[in-house]
Amino acid sequence: MEDKNSGEILVLDLDGTLGLSLIPQEIAFNNAFFLIKEELEKFCSIKLEQIRKSYSLAKRKLYRKYPFLPSRHDKNLRLEQTLAEIEKISNDVKITDGKLLEKVKKCYWDTFHKEAAAYPDTHRTMEELMDKLTVIIFTNNGLEEAELKRRIFELEEHKHFDVFVCSEELGVCKPGHGFYEKFSELLKQKYKINISENKVYMVGDDPEADIRIANEVGAISILIKKDLLANKEPSKEIEKPDYVIFEINEIIKIIDE
Ligand SMILES: [Mg+2]
Repeated sequence: MEDKNSGEILVLDLDGTLGLSLIPQEIAFNNAFFLIKEELEKFCSIKLEQIRKSYSLAKRKLYRKYPFLPSRHDKNLRLEQTLAEIEKISNDVKITDGKLLEKVKKCYWDTFHKEAAAYPDTHRTMEELMDKLTVIIFTNNGLEEAELKRRIFELEEHKHFDVFVCSEELGVCKPGHGFYEKFSELLKQKYKINISENKVYMVGDDPEADIRIANEVGAISILIKKDLLANKEPSKEIEKPDYVIFEINEIIKIIDE
């Protein structure tokens, strides 16, 4: 890939940074829980609270099983494991036969499609940024979910970004150990982008996952206060950003400084 004139690189997170995604995710899980309750009530009595608890337990177990690995973010896997946890507490009701899971997954993704979208100024801003520097999107999602969200956000290669990378290609999620080394190596080998020799800006909505990494590697860190994490504050010095923005188009002013 040819370097842009400036030689500068912008690395953007996807969920919550370029569009509304985490609140839609919450709504989608809620709808999925209601559907599970409705379906299971034909056979047994189950409270919404028990379903929510089963989900939390399933998520916790997945986070433990896949420390900083893409599978921890896999929503289909989370739904499957939630049903497995519910099966353990609902006597004699076999619910992991596949049919209910398919229905629940469909409910989740139909809701997510309806609720998630790029922010109103995302496309225009990205087009403008593409003229100024190399634009890279990195997401912690696996390949399938990353591609699905890219389509929902209507982000196009060459128009809105130069490179789109997901954690599954690296085998590690932000802010896991070795993330940045693997990320740099992939950019160098596959896209001929040398991130270590250029000025790098990193933008994200999560102080813990995005800003910490940016600060650790000496990039200029930009925290965007949007979506579900809008009120999440840095808990450590290393999570404090160089800039705080409230709209994606504010990046342009920072880069032009
Ligand atoms: Mg994010």
